[in-house]
Amino acid sequence: MTNLLGMTRARLKAFFGGLGEKPYRAEQVMKWIYRDGVADFEAMTDIAKPLRRRLADIADIRAPGFGPGHRAADGVVKWPVTVAGGQKVETVLIPDVSASGAKRNTLCISSQVGCALDCSFCATGKQGFGANLRRAEIVGQAWRAARLLPPGETITNVVFMGMGEPLLNFDAAMDAVDVFMDHLAFGISKRRVTVSTAGVAPRIYDMAARTDVSLAISLHAARDDLRDALVPLNRKYPIAELLSACRYYLDSMGERRTITIEYTLIDGVNDRREDAEALVELLAGMRAKVNLIPFNPFPAANGCPAAYRRPSRNRVLYFQRQLLAGGLPAMLRTTRGDDIAAACGQLTGAFEDRTRRRARYQQRGLGGPSDQALIARETAA
Ligand code: SAH
Repeated sequence: MTNLLGMTRARLKAFFGGLGEKPYRAEQVMKWIYRDGVADFEAMTDIAKPLRRRLADIADIRAPGFGPGHRAADGVVKWPVTVAGGQKVETVLIPDVSASGAKRNTLCISSQVGCALDCSFCATGKQGFGANLRRAEIVGQAWRAARLLPPGETITNVVFMGMGEPLLNFDAAMDAVDVFMDHLAFGISKRRVTVSTAGVAPRIYDMAARTDVSLAISLHAARDDLRDALVPLNRKYPIAELLSACRYYLDSMGERRTITIEYTLIDGVNDRREDAEALVELLAGMRAKVNLIPFNPFPAANGCPAAYRRPSRNRVLYFQRQLLAGGLPAMLRTTRGDDIAAACGQLTGAFEDRTRRRARYQQRGLGGPSDQALIARETAA
């Protein structure tokens, strides 16, 4: 069976071409899938019956399974998603209202089960790598979530800031980006689709050749020695190399676009005055805006380093003021959904296998609270 969900328009056209059908069939089917939410060829009434039957024999429209959503006090919703092999990821919906008063629904999607990069402060990284999601599983998160929104609402923004490193699942992520932007599918503008990377520099060049959606870089440190410790990938692609790739991407995007620099503030680790000064100096002259994310803790049993704490509100604001004083646009990302462990860096996709994971950490001598305590901590409002 060929799964048509997540196929770009070009791929769908090639698929119909291969069947000896006209390319416009791709457009008809795309509208049915994404605008009408139809997964059954029989319902596609502008397609001749024999072709519908043929499609049902050879193809399907198969989204990953969504479990019941967990709703946070602030309206954030997190869904457990079951992908191939029964592995689990998570998708997070962040509703809000933009500065101009428009209703916004940002969907934070996962691109991999777990993650190989093992950033020191990220719960997903502590799980290790599970698998690459397929394009149907990436697009399918948005396809399912769109169906669960209140009537009349749509997904207005997509960010690849869930589990996994999208640029290490490049082809599937880029196909998904195309589908998010296609006006026959989600029709989201390039500015509102954001690929976030821990810094896979060579793939940023590849990305420039393929698309011009927004790019976010998880920087977290302005010095290589510190970044090596926080984001081990930095040893492979150090800051200078990464920023060269960013400049290249900025040039290829043209116009008045900017790159987002994500900076997770960890108390006493990367939030000192000299860290802010180094960041200002590093990004001078670059069209970048900094997104400050106060560190979100996760259970020690899941590998959260004991020394990592969220800085006080004052310290966060002081860091922001220093960046602004240095001429660097910097905004504070409000922590949302942390009462259901849906905030940045808290996603693990593991609702059922906590016991197994705890056992693994205990084997490594990391210990930790009981399952009950863990679950209570993660679900307390
Ligand atoms: N691998 C990609 C996509 C994940 S995005 C990337 O690194 O960009 C997740 C964002 O949340 C990243 O900016 C990440 O650095 C940040 N993050 C991870 N763990 C966090 C934590 N515990 N607290 C706050 N932010 C965190």
